[in-house]
Amino acid sequence: MTDGRPLILGNWKMHRTPSETTAFLGDLLPRVQGVTGRDIAVAPPYTCLAAAGEALRGSAVSLAAQDVFWEDQGAYTGAISAPMLQDLGVRYVIVGHSERRQHQGETDHTVRLKVQAALRADLVPVVCVGEQETARVSGRADTVVRGQVLRALEETAPGDLRNIVVAYEPIWAIGTGRTATPSDIAGMHAVIRSEIERVFGGPGAAVRVLYGGSVTPATIDVIMAAPGVQGVLVGGASLRAADFARIAAYRVD
Ligand code: PEP
Repeated sequence: MTDGRPLILGNWKMHRTPSETTAFLGDLLPRVQGVTGRDIAVAPPYTCLAAAGEALRGSAVSLAAQDVFWEDQGAYTGAISAPMLQDLGVRYVIVGHSERRQHQGETDHTVRLKVQAALRADLVPVVCVGEQETARVSGRADTVVRGQVLRALEETAPGDLRNIVVAYEPIWAIGTGRTATPSDIAGMHAVIRSEIERVFGGPGAAVRVLYGGSVTPATIDVIMAAPGVQGVLVGGASLRAADFARIAAYRVD
C-alpha cells in the first residue's frame, strides 16, 4: 500500500471543529497542490474526519486518524474501530502517541493490538516511539526505543512491513520547541532500523521511519537531510497552513 516515498503527516491533536476543518483545508490545499514526490496527510480529530474527507476528495492529501481501538466491533463504548475509519476514507492511523501513553493509559501491549487492528483494515499504522528526557540523559534512550519498536511490531507478518510507519518522537521534543539535533535523529533512526532488521531481516527495509518533535519551516530541510529520515510527524506547525505547506515542500539539496 505504501510506496516508500517520504511521508509528511500533520497531527492536529484536539484542535478544530468540522467547519474549521473545511475552512482550513480550503486554505491548505492550494498551497500544496504543486508539491510532488512525497506523501502528505492530515490527522484531524475523529469528529472532523468526515468533513476532512469531503474537503480532501480529489486532492493528493490523504486522511489520517489520531488513534484506533483494537477490536473491530462490539460493546466498547466510546471506541472507534479500524473498519469504521477505513469506511471514512482514512489511510493512516497514528498509534501509541506519547500523549496517549501519558494521558490515556496506552501501553506497548495496546499499541501492538492497535497495529494489528489497523493492518486488518488495510490502514497504515504510524507507530510512535520515543524516550523521556531522563532516559536520554542517563544513556538509556536506545534501549527504551528498541524495546518499544520490538513490542509494537513483534506480531507483524513480514509481508505487512511495507504498510508500517514508525515515528521517532523524543518526548522532550514534542511541543517544546526543542528539536533533536540532526545527529541525534540520524543516530536513533539507525538504531530503529537495525532493530527492525534484526527481527525481520531484509523485509524490514520497507518500514518508513519518520521524525517528530517541534518540526517547523525553519528546521524541516535540515531534518529531512539527516540520514535515515523518511518523513516527519508534525504537531503544532501543522495547524498553520503556510507552515505546514512549507514543511511539505521541504528541500534537500
Ligand atoms: C506530535 O504531536 O507528534 C508532535 C511532534 O508535536 P509538535 O510538532 O508540536 O512537537
